[in-house]
Amino acid sequence: EAWAEWTARRLAELRDRRVLRSLRALSPVLGDASAVVLDAGTRDSWARDAPSLGEWEGAQTERLVLFAANDYLGLSAHADVRAAAAAAAAESGCGPRASPLVSGYTHAHRRLESDLAALKGTEEALVLPTGYAANLAVLGALADSPSAAIFSDALNHASIVDGARLAARGAGAALHVYKHNDMADLGAQLAASTAARKLIVSDSLFSMDGDYADVRALVALRASHGALLVLDDAHATLVCGEGGGGVAQMQGVRPEEVDVTVGTLSKAFGAHGGFVACSAQLKRLLVSTGRPVIFSTALPAPAVAAASAALRAATPALRAKLWANVRLFAAETGLPAASPIVPVVVGDEADALALSAALLADGFFVPAIRPPTVPRGSSRLRVTLSAAHDEADVRALAAALRRHGACGARAAGRLRAKL
Ligand code: PMP
Repeated sequence: EAWAEWTARRLAELRDRRVLRSLRALSPVLGDASAVVLDAGTRDSWARDAPSLGEWEGAQTERLVLFAANDYLGLSAHADVRAAAAAAAAESGCGPRASPLVSGYTHAHRRLESDLAALKGTEEALVLPTGYAANLAVLGALADSPSAAIFSDALNHASIVDGARLAARGAGAALHVYKHNDMADLGAQLAASTAARKLIVSDSLFSMDGDYADVRALVALRASHGALLVLDDAHATLVCGEGGGGVAQMQGVRPEEVDVTVGTLSKAFGAHGGFVACSAQLKRLLVSTGRPVIFSTALPAPAVAAASAALRAATPALRAKLWANVRLFAAETGLPAASPIVPVVVGDEADALALSAALLADGFFVPAIRPPTVPRGSSRLRVTLSAAHDEADVRALAAALRRHGACGARAAGRLRAKL
């Protein structure tokens, strides 16, 4: 009775705060990473959130161009990646049967780790079930006592926030949040701390704003404060840098100047899973004390095989296509697009939903991102570009955004003012 009452009250409270959410099922289009199909049921559930969609005279099922995935190179649909996953499922089965330390770790995991270490220029890499788990493992294992202090960017991903809170509440580590990309604030907080072990952690390419950390500045603070630097390169791996090595590579930072890089296999790899690239010593520590490494089932063989195939399929030509799309979108919209993640900040939640609904009616899938994912008053459409998009797709989305008044200098100014 107490639980039933609480559940009902809690749902009502979430509805009042406008943060009650529901899942909406989409159908992928076989072999096409740039499209989804929206059926009538999903459209109706959408219409409950955005009443203007109710007027949409679309067909019962509608193919939409997808500008809302993290599949930056379109590799989720790549023939070699799909074939590798299918072959691995046929040969090794789907379930890894156990956690890595028990019996779930295979030679295929080992080979993938070697390839990821080579990509990042580190001694070692460790594969985990997700990027979320990777951040929890790193922060939990390294900030394990009150003598450690974590310094975390205010706009870091939720998995860093959760890992840092666990370390703070569970192990008594100090937690300092510095203003977004504000190196003076970070420097001051580092200087004021008396902790024996300082750990700086930052997204490299920020997931909701598409801007970059100044990794050179972080490296300088790492050196002057004897801190450990952890970068979350989830969105930038295979995307940024000449060899796809990430933001550090793009900014000319040497691999040995970053202690730990966290990544995911679920974005530009088009596969699934997470990883950590670091020294052999730190890897040994993570394997011995990282709770998500120890207590969670290993990454399944099809995901491992898909990620390995994706590494081979991520050619410079695909990366060039992605960046050409980014430049084209920036030119066509006047939005300050510096990466494949382009926020179109609208402000009000209802306006963001209405713009998303208008784009849906135009044939584009770009959902609204609202609080609590982003701060109140900065609701937005988060446009993500991919090498899977044709030039025509990019031009068409830009034209639709212009028609709806979401582009240009005014919108860009509004965006900067809000962030
Ligand atoms: N870090 C960042 C910056 C992310 O954006 C994400 C995914 N949204 C993650 C970590 C978590 O990765 P995964 O989805 O593999 O759990």
